[in-house]
Amino acid sequence: MSLNLIPPPIQKINSEIFTRAGVELSVLRLDLMHPLVNGNKWFKLKYNLLTAKAQNYTTILTFGGAYSNHIYATAAAGNLLGFRTIGVIRGEERLPLNPTLSFAIEQGMQLVYIDRETYRQRHTPELQAWLRQRFGEVFIIPEGGCNLDGVRGCTEIIAEVNEIFDTVCVPCGTATTLAGLTLALKPKQRSLGFPVLKNGDFLRQDITNLLTHYHASGLPIPASTPASWELVCDYHFGGYAKVNDELFSFSDEFTRTHGIPLDYVYTAKMFYGVLDMIQKGCFVGDRLLLIHTGGLQGNLSMKNIKRAG
Ligand SMILES: *Cc1c(COP(=O)(O)O)cnc(C)c1O
Repeated sequence: MSLNLIPPPIQKINSEIFTRAGVELSVLRLDLMHPLVNGNKWFKLKYNLLTAKAQNYTTILTFGGAYSNHIYATAAAGNLLGFRTIGVIRGEERLPLNPTLSFAIEQGMQLVYIDRETYRQRHTPELQAWLRQRFGEVFIIPEGGCNLDGVRGCTEIIAEVNEIFDTVCVPCGTATTLAGLTLALKPKQRSLGFPVLKNGDFLRQDITNLLTHYHASGLPIPASTPASWELVCDYHFGGYAKVNDELFSFSDEFTRTHGIPLDYVYTAKMFYGVLDMIQKGCFVGDRLLLIHTGGLQGNLSMKNIKRAG
């Protein structure tokens, strides 16, 4: 499977504030790997798509909200790699379609809307059987690519990174990406996740479960010894996709100063959190690697919301 991806570049961030604080900061730009298929969503899709291909599936079915980066990436990757794709979207159809769903349609994805109640059943065998009855032999990828093949892909995010670092920072939705990163760390390195949902503490159990199942699965693990991971749950800005003017102005200013665009749902919150923690005296003497997980497509819809609000 070839998409002509470029290896994610590393960008150093120079700032007097960091130098004074004794912190080194580099960004791994997953957002630059491919114009359409990029970010952590590609890594989560990779082995799912390879499994689908190996099992001779020609159609991928997956789930997401109306602004989902995962729906966007699945539509694009499916189109480029010759899969039919079906996107099961949470909630009712709203016209005109937002930029995310318009793009999915352009890429040939078939969209199906299911009500929120039914959507909650998406992991059950009953709903999956119903979907197979309706759409035939489909390879089902869970929402966000959150499964062991998803974790496996994320173990490759830092595979080519030669930069020496102590702490890798990543925004978390399901924390699949954090789990994969943690499985690839070298001794004494740690991962630090920034949940973008309110009360992100619940993710601790999810991460433990993902890591336990992954270890039991026999899938490859790059790390020689288990690394430690931690969560910082204070930078959700009110919850998933919740934003405020402070976040908008931080993000705009960061982009102006460092030339790195951020998305408001994930990366802006993590960068805000890291910079705030540095200013509060955390990370002294640390070399940080921040994962830019992509997701910039979502800003198109968010800007519209911002203007409307
Ligand atoms: C989905 C997503 C995340 C969260 O990834 P998880 O593996 O679910 O924690 C982070 N950043 C961006 C840009 C995303 O699209």
